[in-house]
Amino acid sequence: MSNLAFAQRDLAVLWHPCTQMKDHEALPPVPIRRGQGVWLEDFEGKRYLDAISSWWVNLFGHAHPYINDAIKAQLEQLEHVILAGFSHEPAVRLAERLTHLAPPSLSRCFYADNGSSAVEVALKMSYHYWRNLGKTRKTRFVTLENSYHGETLGALAVGDVALYKETYAPLLMDVITVPSPDCFHREKGESWADYSARRFSDMEKTLAAHSEEVCAVIVEPLVQCAGSMRMYDPVYLKLLREACDRYGVHLIADEIAVGFGRTGSLFACEQAGITPDFLCLSKGLTGGYLPLSAVLTRETVYQAFYGDYATLKAFLHSHSYTGNPLACTAALASLDLFERDDVIARNRILAREMADATTGLADHPHVAEVRQTGMILAVELVEDKNTRQPYPWQERRGRQVYRHALSRGVLLRPLGDVVYFMPPYVIAPEQIRLMADVAREGIALATAD
Ligand code: PMP
Repeated sequence: MSNLAFAQRDLAVLWHPCTQMKDHEALPPVPIRRGQGVWLEDFEGKRYLDAISSWWVNLFGHAHPYINDAIKAQLEQLEHVILAGFSHEPAVRLAERLTHLAPPSLSRCFYADNGSSAVEVALKMSYHYWRNLGKTRKTRFVTLENSYHGETLGALAVGDVALYKETYAPLLMDVITVPSPDCFHREKGESWADYSARRFSDMEKTLAAHSEEVCAVIVEPLVQCAGSMRMYDPVYLKLLREACDRYGVHLIADEIAVGFGRTGSLFACEQAGITPDFLCLSKGLTGGYLPLSAVLTRETVYQAFYGDYATLKAFLHSHSYTGNPLACTAALASLDLFERDDVIARNRILAREMADATTGLADHPHVAEVRQTGMILAVELVEDKNTRQPYPWQERRGRQVYRHALSRGVLLRPLGDVVYFMPPYVIAPEQIRLMADVAREGIALATAD
């Protein structure tokens, strides 16, 4: 079947995520028949380099033989079982490994089945913890400007990307939003650390004023991914941890996008040397194979829910596919690969290759900034380099880069006018150069007039 014939079948029945479906009149969805390593192959045999790890989930490439084999073996044992009242080996083993690998003191693992649900779990657990302690005035959350935590109503409420949030504002709980430490806004010559530390004064003031009514502060450590890959310095997390302790407020670290080696360490929080009260994990958790999420927390939180049934303190939250054995097995296999292949060290070399492959791009007349944290590199396009005036959003310049890259066999999916790379960790140096060259061409085309 041709790409077009398949697209027609697709468009007759599917409603795609995060898509204005009318856009597909001009550019039909790309049907993928198979994946191998960094490559995706369409119905006509054309290949695309998956430079965004299929929405940031894929760590070790598509159809990795080791993960495939692990899932096949588990499939013969147990595909799924209810996790309430029952248990199974992959769920326990994964919880053992995650609590061992995570920052110290995160000794309890609660599973859900996608990122947004993990955020909902953390928000509810934090509120419920304070309630169980009799602190019933604590009902609010603090979030950062430009943050993103998912699309379900609770997760959307603590996010701040207008494109996704504004329409649904009347449905959302009220949160306290604090300016972001995002270093795009630093003064000329100011270091990331100085800017991020300076920005902390807003958070300090907010906590001083509202700590009595605040359950938790939620942040994406180091990189606000869906918020255009904006980045900040670990010092902010250090200051935030200290302040949360001082004011008696939880810290929720949403590492759904940045966890598992993306930022240069296994977890981004490690770079600040902190332990959050809740650590939300998903996406790369299963190496990009199956939906799964986990919220890790402290024993003190767990104990606040522990008691006789009649105290009604239990956390009665559930999702049907919680801790699915196949997904846990994929996660265990993915963790094996981290150990076996010394991935974090190898990623340092790849990150340098990404920087080298984009040398000079910062001098482009329509590039405001090239920024990088580990295995995430972003190029921000603007209309006016001096004032950093963005292009009118209606011009959809980033989409021109997307279209050009597709024609050249690379899957880039700019966030607005921010072109970024977030490739699988098995990418080879020459593939990094291809990805960067295609982005360069696309940027030249998209900014030509
Ligand atoms: N938090 C962050 C930081 C994310 O990047 C995402 C997904 N882009 C989510 C939460 C939501 O995860 P999911 O799409 O699995 O619901």
